[in-house]
This record gives sequence, C-alpha cells and structure tokens, in this order.
Amino acid sequence: MTETARPDPMDLDLSPEAILRWYADAGVDECILEAPVDRFHLSAELLAEAEARRKQAPAARPESAGPAGRAAPARQAPPAQHPVSPSVARGPGDRAGETLRSAARMAAEAQTLDDLRAAVEAFESCPLKVTATNTVFSDGNPDADLMVIGEAPGAEEDRQGKPFVGASGQLLDRMLASIGFDRTTFYITNVIPWRPPGNRKPTPQEVGMCLPFIRRHVELTAPKAILMVGGLSAQSLLDRTEGITRLRGRWFEYASPNLPAAVPAIASFHPAYLLRSPQMKKLAWRDLLLLRERLRELGAAQ
Ligand code: URA
Repeated sequence: MTETARPDPMDLDLSPEAILRWYADAGVDECILEAPVDRFHLSAELLAEAEARRKQAPAARPESAGPAGRAAPARQAPPAQHPVSPSVARGPGDRAGETLRSAARMAAEAQTLDDLRAAVEAFESCPLKVTATNTVFSDGNPDADLMVIGEAPGAEEDRQGKPFVGASGQLLDRMLASIGFDRTTFYITNVIPWRPPGNRKPTPQEVGMCLPFIRRHVELTAPKAILMVGGLSAQSLLDRTEGITRLRGRWFEYASPNLPAAVPAIASFHPAYLLRSPQMKKLAWRDLLLLRERLRELGAAQ
C-alpha cells in the first residue's frame, strides 16, 4: 500500500481570505448571527448542567423516569426524536402529508397576490425558511403577459428579497431585453421562495411543499405565456422527469382547473448554467426566439 503524502500543516494558508474561501467552498457563506456561537463550549455547558442535575436527583431514580425526571432544565437542546426535515408524505395521517395539505389549503385560500404573499410568509413548515434571510416572492409587473419562473433564490436574492437580482439575474434580464422585455413587461418568481443553504438543490419534499404556492401564483397571475428557467422549474411545473436538455425549446401546455385555458409554457437553460457554459447560449437564443414568436402570435404586450 502506498502512503498518501499529507500536506505539511506549516504549508497551509491560514490567512483570513483563505479561511473564508474554505468556508464558502463548504457552503458556509452566510452570517446568521452578529457574533459567533461557540457550540463546543455550549455542549460542554449542557453536559455540565446535565451532570449537576444527575447529582441532585435522588440516587434510585433513573433520569428519564417519573415527574422529577421530566422537569425542564433552564436550557435544553431540542429532543433528538423531533426530526428537523420532514420526509416524503407516506400517506394520510403522517406529518409530511399534513404539511402538504396545509400548504395546499393556504395556497387555495389566497384570492389575490397579496393574500398569496402573506400565505407564503406565514408558512412555517419548510425547513428552508429557517435558514433564509428573506422570503423571495416576486418582482416585475404582475399584469404582464409573460411570467418567468426560476428555481430558487441565491445569496443576493436572499439578501434583497427579490428574485433574479444576482449575476445570473442580470444575464437573464439581458437575455429578455434582447427580445424586447424588461421588468415592466414581465413578471418573475421562483418555484421555491427561500434560498437553500449554500445553494444546494432543494429536496423533493421541499419542492413538494412549495408547489401549491407556485401553482396558485400562476393561477392568480394568469399570464399568456410562461418561461420556465432551469431544470427544476420545468420538471416541477410540468411534472416531468427529463433533464433540461430534453425539456428546453419545446412548447408545453400548463393546465390548471382554476385557469380559464391552458397556458403555453417553454423551458430554457438557467442563466447560471449559461454563465458556466457560454457555448450553450446559442440554444438559449433559439428558445428566446420561439418565445418571442409565440408572444407575438398571442398579441402579448411588450
Ligand atoms: N436562480 C434562480 O433560479 N432564481 C433566482 O431568483 C436567482 C437565481
């Protein structure tokens, strides 16, 4: 067996820039609190508190048994039996199923976009909301004929509370400007209203609990055409499993019982992908031309 050479600790770059870069690469790119919390110290304190309680308790009583054992300590870590993230709905009666039902109920009750925004802001069951700074609801003109639907907010969107305001949003604005649209003539939102930490892919459960809200969003906006930006947007709105390479550049009918008619919907590459793969811009340009042509046929306002 050959031994792998380990870097000499003396060679490590421990400058603040290198440490911050290391954190960012690991997905730690947001400050949640003003001051750091020393979790090692906290857990040592909790252990010491538990030890002190154990010493005070009558010798024969097991820690978990009887009313004295249940007395709440001044500060306690959340019980391990309450999972933070819900699992896929396993059927009626389970907690994840109830979360989905409550999302559907809250979305259906919204009669206006303001109601819907309030409902999304009041929805507490999505784990992504816990780490997000802001709920990112929408931007642009809600009366526009074109509705653009992306995936989930990134860091800049989370900071400003608006969709597509970072580098990829700026590219998307330029792309749509090239076919004559700007934020006064399109309306823009995301499938997921909260930034996944470290920009990770949202889980199917997270997507599932956000879907009733985006579906109601489309109903209340009733656009003439939809541009789905990125694979997650196209797959979740169309309920398809193919990748974006297969879904892009084709017209689909987005139907809902609460829409007077199905809405033509087309998918294209996410601008963040185009920033990394500029050679794909020519395909995105074709998608935009298809979109422009269809919007003209529909007599959409530009
Ligand atoms: N990517 C998205 O899909 N949405 C945003 O709002 C920003 C980046």
